[in-house]
Amino acid sequence: MSRPALSMSGVEKSFGPFRALGPVDLDLMANERLGIIGPNGAGKTTLINCITGVLRPDSGSVRFEGADITALPSFRRARLGISRTFQIPHPFRGMSVVENLLVPLDYIHGVEDRHRRAAEVLERVGLSARAAYPSEDLSQLELRKLELARALVGNPKVLIADEAMAGLSEAEIDEVLAILYSLNEQGVAVIMIEHIMHAVMRFSQRVVCFETGQLIASGTAEEVTRNPTVQKVYFGE
Ligand code: ADP
Repeated sequence: MSRPALSMSGVEKSFGPFRALGPVDLDLMANERLGIIGPNGAGKTTLINCITGVLRPDSGSVRFEGADITALPSFRRARLGISRTFQIPHPFRGMSVVENLLVPLDYIHGVEDRHRRAAEVLERVGLSARAAYPSEDLSQLELRKLELARALVGNPKVLIADEAMAGLSEAEIDEVLAILYSLNEQGVAVIMIEHIMHAVMRFSQRVVCFETGQLIASGTAEEVTRNPTVQKVYFGE
């Protein structure tokens, strides 16, 4: 946790006259577990899109391991090691679980190497037993695991988990958290964007809260929970 993996400085994004985000200064340390909270419309998705390269900030810079990546397209950032899951998993229908992973691995030339890599990723998310299952037969939890697996095929250094636990039971939330902890132990920095407060508070070493595009609080889970501005955002006056 000594050097930043990601570093955002003065990042701003507007849609027409409406400023959705910033200016934001935010670092993610290598191997950190960072939680991002904030009500709908706070700018969380816009921030992620600026990190992954879906959106180009109007001003400010995004650096990854010291290099300026502000102008890099998404696929180059993914190759460098920035990966994300999506709130709503969209597996390739009509394909098995393992085939869903072989598609993004088709840059690896040897068939055996591709399969070995896919098997490793399924193992990491605890989905090995479902490798041959049609993806449409998966449970909600298994779909979430497949979504994580898809984000892991490129061996990311930074994983952005965007509402990766929505709709899951408490026991299932624990299972996803355990996977994310184990990835983090293997050296992956994790950004968790999550509305399930107890999960994000438990998981994160540091929590930041956004509202109307601004970072309004940053600290440990306890500090952010007690922060009067955060309480006002969540519970009114
Ligand atoms: P969050 O993910 O925290 O819910 P978003 O980043 O999606 O917040 O949105 C922040 C604000 O920017 C919202 O007011 C939203 O309506 C607006 N916004 C997001 N994307 C666009 C867009 N493509 N065009 C116009 N407004 C947008």
